[in-house]
Amino acid sequence: MNEFHPSKVFKFCPYCGAANFLWNSVNAFACQSCKQKFYINMAAAVVAVIYNDNNELLLTRRKHNPFAGFLDLPGGFVNLHETAENAVIREVKEELNINISEYRFVATFPNEYVFGGIQYFTEDIVFLCKIDDFSNISANDDISSYEFRPLDKVYIDEIGLNSIKNVIKHLKEQNK
Ligand SMILES: [Zn+2]
Repeated sequence: MNEFHPSKVFKFCPYCGAANFLWNSVNAFACQSCKQKFYINMAAAVVAVIYNDNNELLLTRRKHNPFAGFLDLPGGFVNLHETAENAVIREVKEELNINISEYRFVATFPNEYVFGGIQYFTEDIVFLCKIDDFSNISANDDISSYEFRPLDKVYIDEIGLNSIKNVIKHLKEQNK
């Protein structure tokens, strides 16, 4: 476990403030004083795989850390009380101003990264999405630009997040 793992960062019980707040080595802290458990769960996130009519993949460039300037796929976190399906429709609209007309589930990819000095864990839920009309596409929100590329011209080293690298590898594998 690295220095950013929650077990290294969280020192006090959030319920009672006691310092004997112990990591169970799997997924939770147990407070030895008030006996409460505090779970560290994966956050749900969505990823959109979108191709244009020339069978080129839609890539975005990250505006913010982690991995500012690296290539990414459209997507983001699922909000509280939101379905993953709504989240992918919302994120693609927010980031690119385009509307998903159809989608289907592809696979999930676990991810972890450090943000603000703490390690976060996500489960990236990937959807293959159909866009009928790209005419209003623009880069907004937390992306600085977008581009279309054939899959064989997408290089893993240009991708920031590990889970997205794995999504691209998965797509390349399927494409063989
Ligand atoms: Zn406690």
